[in-house]
Amino acid sequence: MLKLLQNENPDSSWITQDTTKTLLDTCSEVVLPLINNDENIMKKMIDWVKASQDSEFNANNVITEAIGIAAPQIGKNVNMYYILLPILNKDETITYYEHALINPKIIGRSEQIAALKKGEGCLSVTTKHHEGLVPRSYKIKVTGFDYLKNKKVSLTIRGYEAIVFQHEQDHLEGKLFYHHINKENPWHSNEEWIII
Ligand SMILES: [Zn+2]
Repeated sequence: MLKLLQNENPDSSWITQDTTKTLLDTCSEVVLPLINNDENIMKKMIDWVKASQDSEFNANNVITEAIGIAAPQIGKNVNMYYILLPILNKDETITYYEHALINPKIIGRSEQIAALKKGEGCLSVTTKHHEGLVPRSYKIKVTGFDYLKNKKVSLTIRGYEAIVFQHEQDHLEGKLFYHHINKENPWHSNEEWIII
């Protein structure tokens, strides 16, 4: 049984859509330790993603399944996001890659580019389809304060995970995945890119 961190049930009305201007604004730094309102935003992000992946809570797909969410998508333009990636192991067990970052920064990037072969999706992009490859750095170094670990972390991330982080980091700068898609040729790929 899923245990929520705050007392409201995740609901689709929580999500700010890309038709709302605040989603295209930049976010501000978060003061630590978290004030009540910021902590509630963090808890709402964690609850949304966990509930969306919970087969019992979301049995009827009442909310859209997500692997990551950023604070401006859920009501406040502050530098925080949450990522919960289920990774299937060879023996069929699942390992969760989980980070709740406050004031995250990408401090290093590979020149190598990677992109997801089917493109990207977003909880805040539902009114219009935006298809195409989204070029990202294959490898990044991220620093930030992890709410769950209660300490500063420094992460080196590659491949699919790195793409998810860059998608969420973009939200803090008012950017959406489709801003990176080649307008003339959406599925254009360079032969040096890694397509995942
Ligand atoms: Zn998004």
